[in-house]
Amino acid sequence: MRTLYEMTPKRRFVSGMLGGRVDRVPVGSATSVATVEQEEITSSYFPDAHLDGIKMARLAAGAYEILGYDCIMPVFSVVAESAALGCEIDWGDKENMPINRSSPWEDPDEVVMPDDFLDKPTIKACLDAISILRNTYGDQVAIMGKVMGPWTLAYHMHGVQEFLMETISNPEKVRSFLSKLKKVTILFGKAQIKAGADVLCLADHATGDLVSSETYRDFLLPFHKELTKEIGCPMTLHICGNTLDRIKYICESGFDCFHFESKVDAKKAVKEVDGRISLMGNINNPEILLGGSPEKVAEKTCYAIKAGVQIVGPECAIPLVTPIENLKEIVRVAKEENKK
Ligand SMILES: [Zn+2]
Repeated sequence: MRTLYEMTPKRRFVSGMLGGRVDRVPVGSATSVATVEQEEITSSYFPDAHLDGIKMARLAAGAYEILGYDCIMPVFSVVAESAALGCEIDWGDKENMPINRSSPWEDPDEVVMPDDFLDKPTIKACLDAISILRNTYGDQVAIMGKVMGPWTLAYHMHGVQEFLMETISNPEKVRSFLSKLKKVTILFGKAQIKAGADVLCLADHATGDLVSSETYRDFLLPFHKELTKEIGCPMTLHICGNTLDRIKYICESGFDCFHFESKVDAKKAVKEVDGRISLMGNINNPEILLGGSPEKVAEKTCYAIKAGVQIVGPECAIPLVTPIENLKEIVRVAKEENKK
């Protein structure tokens, strides 16, 4: 349903996430849209922008100021929580995201939440950035926070291989990790809302390449039900890869929206969700946004909009050398489609 009045980006984005009326299809992403070009325009560079709330906010605002997107999401990396919990981090550079270099916890008994978790540098930077963005753009633009779910935190803190093997060899250990790590997700999520986030992304990489849909259903779904209830604000789930076989379970999880990759065909995803939650994303990063032309971006954006995806945008954190021209093309098409 289209409104006859023009909406602010914030109303458009939040309404899209909740499946309501919009004046045109909103554009945005639950994951990073920062690029080297935006780092240069805003004079705010990686890796400093992961640790300094002012620089983080300035670079993140590029999503609205430079790209014209309807939401600003400043939590660029996936290492904020793991760095605060004691992982060694390779901070990368202006063209590369940080990555974890160690997985310190062997056993769920070792899971300890530091008392000063919210004051750890990576966490504080995210909260400061959200607060600055809220004060500067909060009346006009949707401010999205991002937290890692317990599955991703277990990959980071315990190791991907070990954790996945234990879903078979030691399911109780897996559940014990998830049960303890969910507290990190809740604490950081609620702190982001308090700092001024309108909506949250929960990234939990139970991706199709590594995890079966039954594993998602049996291990993670109960935790997602709990987390969406406990955190309480409008939320989108992000999972990479081919997730078509688990969308039916994701619809039961309590998330309002699912940020999904191009490995899932947009029409099939829309059919699978059957109106139960909204969909966001779907524009391919490596071949289309990074390597393709604006014409290719336009073609894929039209396809996703016509299929019924509620919010169009990049499928996952974009490669930092992605051209701005391609990222802006999504907005041009969303505006154009509305006139038809
Ligand atoms: Zn992803």
